[in-house]
Amino acid sequence: MSAGDASPAPAEGDRLDFVRQIVADDCRSGKWDGAVVTRFPPEPNGYLHIGHAKAICLDFGIAREFGGRCNMRFDDTNPTKEEAEYVQAILDDVRWLGFAWDGLYYASDYFERMYELACELIDQGKAYVDDLPADQISEMRGTLTSPGQPSPYRERSVAENRDLFARMRAGEFPDGAKVLRARIDMAAPNMNLRDPVMYRIIHAAHHRQGDAWCIYPTYDWAHGLEDAIEGVTHSICTLEFENHRPLYDWYLDQFAIHHPQQIEFAPLNITYTVLSKRKLLELVTGGHVAGWDDPRMPTLRGLRRRGFSPEAIRDFCAQVGVAKYPALSELPLLEHCVRKHLNATAERRMAVLDPVRLIIDNYPEDGDEEFAAVNNPEDPAAGSRTVPFGRELWIEREDFMEDPPKKFFRLAPGREVRLRYAYLVTCTGVDKDADGRITAIHCTYDPATRGGSAPDGRKVKATLHWVAARSAVTAEVRLYETLFAAENPAQAIPEGGTWLDTLNPTSKQVLAACQVEPALHDAAPFTRFQFERKGYFCVDPDSTAGRPVFNRTVTLRDTWAKLSKAGG
Ligand code: ATP
Ligand code: MG
Repeated sequence: MSAGDASPAPAEGDRLDFVRQIVADDCRSGKWDGAVVTRFPPEPNGYLHIGHAKAICLDFGIAREFGGRCNMRFDDTNPTKEEAEYVQAILDDVRWLGFAWDGLYYASDYFERMYELACELIDQGKAYVDDLPADQISEMRGTLTSPGQPSPYRERSVAENRDLFARMRAGEFPDGAKVLRARIDMAAPNMNLRDPVMYRIIHAAHHRQGDAWCIYPTYDWAHGLEDAIEGVTHSICTLEFENHRPLYDWYLDQFAIHHPQQIEFAPLNITYTVLSKRKLLELVTGGHVAGWDDPRMPTLRGLRRRGFSPEAIRDFCAQVGVAKYPALSELPLLEHCVRKHLNATAERRMAVLDPVRLIIDNYPEDGDEEFAAVNNPEDPAAGSRTVPFGRELWIEREDFMEDPPKKFFRLAPGREVRLRYAYLVTCTGVDKDADGRITAIHCTYDPATRGGSAPDGRKVKATLHWVAARSAVTAEVRLYETLFAAENPAQAIPEGGTWLDTLNPTSKQVLAACQVEPALHDAAPFTRFQFERKGYFCVDPDSTAGRPVFNRTVTLRDTWAKLSKAGG
């Protein structure tokens, strides 16, 4: 596969983010002989979320723009948390987002090479087998203000270390009995350099290697080697690895091998959600959401099911930009991006979410007119469809008020409004049940207003959407609010509570008896529509024959446009 269409290489004078600036400078100076090789290196221990999308756009985007290569690499070095299921899902999600990788690699395929290099390090006197248990190792590591204590096993001979390390690999010792540590500096100001662990014993089946190994490399030991083996030039990662860079460099400096540059950028954070696979897993296993693809989840699966398009997510990542310092991005910006894309691409339909019957008393009982409705005013190529009309229609309950306040311009007794594409109608009265709830609204129509305008030029203040009762399809519609009630869930934890206490208890609402136009009868899962006046909606895979289910992606009201205007 190729990295996709090469976008024009950035020209001198283009305003680049700091990562692209580094790459552009390196290309100009010929540091890597003009090569640009990046990688996206997820650990297959969960589904990708929108934070990963930012990294994907950066890693693949840079390769595209600079005519380089971007590898997909699974950092599958921990058998206890990783599964083949996640590998497949991650590949699907990267493709869905619109990217194609050059090479597809697995860190576990390099285990033999890593083992050889670890032996080399032992031979150089720069690694040793330690018998201390994990808690003691961390206790003896010291603090930011005090140096660490050397392990009593630090001075083992090369021969003894080689023997013990081989026996670790051979499976002679139980989990936790021994580790291999780099022998660097127990007094280093950077704690990561105080004899970090390189291998631990884990007797667990690996999703690709099976039982071939019972020693597994740590992230720091493995990651730089993976990059080096693949000839990566720019190893782009998130800020939490900044402190690990000296160790990344130290390991690579010990060998005569390719030495990529690690560059850290600020991870994406978004208001009203959490972006951490561990926390998202907890939401799934704790039953707080229906699964990884719950439409409230910030996973790519969840966003897709909710109706977010890859174009919108990529646009959002581009607008958020790439910076060195952490920030909290606004959820309304993401919503703005999806509105922009769906406004241009989604077909319009009429759907009544909270239906009440509207009876046109002077319309023929057997009237079966149809009206042409434009599919997308922004896209003439989308054409039109016909919408059946009739004597009995469904309209939104909220579009009628018996006793309207001054600013309510929709239907009310004696008032005339437009039915979209059809006629002007005037309300003549209502039917109510014993509890006083309105069961039907009566009106008359003016046959001279076919198409929606009056020959005498009289104006109405409202246009209502509607669905003909006879041919309407009953649908389920799921409405969503933010998953968390707090803008920044991590900072809103109540005293004595946990981050789960900041979940929004009303984040999902199910409307089971919506009435939608017949064209939606068998819409394919994941198709996106605009329901006129109601927002953007996406067909849920829970749909069954004749009973579609829709997720509301967003309402039509663009709070971001307002926010950014108010802000100047
Ligand atoms: P999480 O913390 O959610 O478990 P992770 O960092 O453990 O994520 P990895 O599978 O290691 O997940 O991530 C793969 C790549 O995606 C890494 O390069 C990582 O830096 C990047 N990444 C992860 N989270 C974000 C984020 N919120 N914003 C930008 N990039 C991210
Ligand atoms: Mg990680």
